[in-house]
Amino acid sequence: MRTVKGVPMRDLTIPAQRHPEKARRQATLQPKKPDWIRVKSPGGAGYTKTRDIIRENKLVTVCEEAGCPNVGECWSQGHATMMIMGEVCTRACTFCNVATGKPPTELDPFEPGRVAAAVKTLGLNHVVITSVDRDDVEDGGARHFVQTIRAIRQQSRSTTIEILTPDFLNCDPKVLELVVEARPDVFNHNLETVPGLYPAVRPGARYFHSLRLLERVKEIDPLMFTKSGIMVGLGEDRQAVHAVMDDMRCADVDFLTIGQYLQPTAKHHHVDRFVTPEEFSQYQKAAYGKGFLMVASSPLTRSSYHAGDDFEKLRAARLQRAAEA
Ligand code: SF4
Repeated sequence: MRTVKGVPMRDLTIPAQRHPEKARRQATLQPKKPDWIRVKSPGGAGYTKTRDIIRENKLVTVCEEAGCPNVGECWSQGHATMMIMGEVCTRACTFCNVATGKPPTELDPFEPGRVAAAVKTLGLNHVVITSVDRDDVEDGGARHFVQTIRAIRQQSRSTTIEILTPDFLNCDPKVLELVVEARPDVFNHNLETVPGLYPAVRPGARYFHSLRLLERVKEIDPLMFTKSGIMVGLGEDRQAVHAVMDDMRCADVDFLTIGQYLQPTAKHHHVDRFVTPEEFSQYQKAAYGKGFLMVASSPLTRSSYHAGDDFEKLRAARLQRAAEA
């Protein structure tokens, strides 16, 4: 730690608090987790190997930053979801554990190369790349996504690439075209929750902007797979969840993910309830009925959970549907 006259000084490039904007929020404790939310604890040779590769390449993962419950399982198989553009987000979503504030650094031009090196070393068949929101950057980081996709393609030609992007709100709409034209295999942008909860859960975002972004991806490239997800247990009702599914289908979204919201700290949005596995199955059945090609719906479903296996199923589902048409 830096010292002045022997007195330790805080590194001013690191936010004083992980969530300064949540300091004044009322603390609410998460109710006790039900039996159906059980996870593998992190550890073992595979987990350690993944962690070491991430550290050696100085990368940030959403698995760690978001406190994902699946990290033990995913990392033991080498599946880490890299989070580009730093570890500080310019938004302040009340569900998210990623640090918020003014990012202390410019975008790192060497990061795409390090991501590509890690993907190669991990030997991934399928990789998910996400990012923090960077409202301080003119293109929202769109070109950084493009460079990352290109760097991975150069080093790992057969690896399929899924991107989970920010909403590029307030950017020139053309930046979305740049990202789509870089031809990721899956374009994911999460709606996160039902529109009525946006002011409380995702205050810096706009539901219909996010929905339009998904629709626009399909307009730019009708063959690109699109994916979106929501969390449940935030206070939404079933009718609103069904309405979100309908909205997604109107935007021609192919793949829907639904998972249980878990509260990172007492200062985050409270868990309203734990949705039962039976209700997740009902949502899945309803979503297939609405025409999604692929639906992952379970308490521990996350955008990138089993993403590689699910991508294979997604491709197969499109082929099957085309054969039936
Ligand atoms: S589900 Fe996604 S974010 Fe969570 S540990 Fe697995 S790869 Fe990481």
